[in-house]
Amino acid sequence: MSALHRRDLLAGLAGLAALGAGGLDVWANAPTPKTVKKPTPLPRPKLVFLDPGHGGRDPGALGLRGTQEKSVVMAIARDLQKELLAGGRYRVLLTRSTDNFVALRERVARAQAAKADLFLSLHADSHDNPDVRGASVYTLSEEATDREAAALAARENRADAVIAGMKLSDKDDNVARTLVAMSQRGTVNDSRRLADTIVQTFGHNGVRLLPRTHRQAGFAVLTSPDIPAALVELGYLSNRQDEKLLTVRQHQVSLARALRASVDAHFAASAATRKA
Ligand SMILES: [Zn+2]
Repeated sequence: MSALHRRDLLAGLAGLAALGAGGLDVWANAPTPKTVKKPTPLPRPKLVFLDPGHGGRDPGALGLRGTQEKSVVMAIARDLQKELLAGGRYRVLLTRSTDNFVALRERVARAQAAKADLFLSLHADSHDNPDVRGASVYTLSEEATDREAAALAARENRADAVIAGMKLSDKDDNVARTLVAMSQRGTVNDSRRLADTIVQTFGHNGVRLLPRTHRQAGFAVLTSPDIPAALVELGYLSNRQDEKLLTVRQHQVSLARALRASVDAHFAASAATRKA
């Protein structure tokens, strides 16, 4: 069970308890209700963590015309942040909000500390072959997932590690490993669904995609055991057309809109899965 599911489950149970205490009994027994029924609390807005890749001394990929990956992905992250906030359904935080260097593990740690519901890392790629172009979406590979689970479970100092609401510090190595693996398996499935949703939404919105677009790799930034995460390569700065497109405001905004639609579809699908 992912932390996401668990949190929603707990919220649901709290809602039921409130109903039992103040709602049904009153209508069944008392002619004049003495307590005013509290309004149902609105669902907690989902926290989306956006990760504009690179920054500061690390410019990322460089285009033929000198475009820097770190600036392009920051512009698109800002657009996406605006898009997500506009609907009032999300809170949005960025792993970096200026042109500064943030280590990969630190990005994951920030999202975990904030209890993010979703992590989206934004990048632009580069290839030796200048003809290669199109977007692609990555999730954590199985080997990397297992490696991370073992490393986290075996870490000497895991005093602060909490998986699915359970502290790892008081568990022995085997139990810790199983807990991490269980949580990570759920998260990996959620992440893969998220990646497929992004690929579909990009397809519907005319965003050019690489063949075999959803790929798996060992990106350090995708290693959070309990936050569904995907890394999106928005195009190739080593390709003239892609480089141009990635700097055009209109294209940046339409990429942000396609990503916002993907986030909407992801949360709609996970809500539907829980109801089924
Ligand atoms: Zn990158």
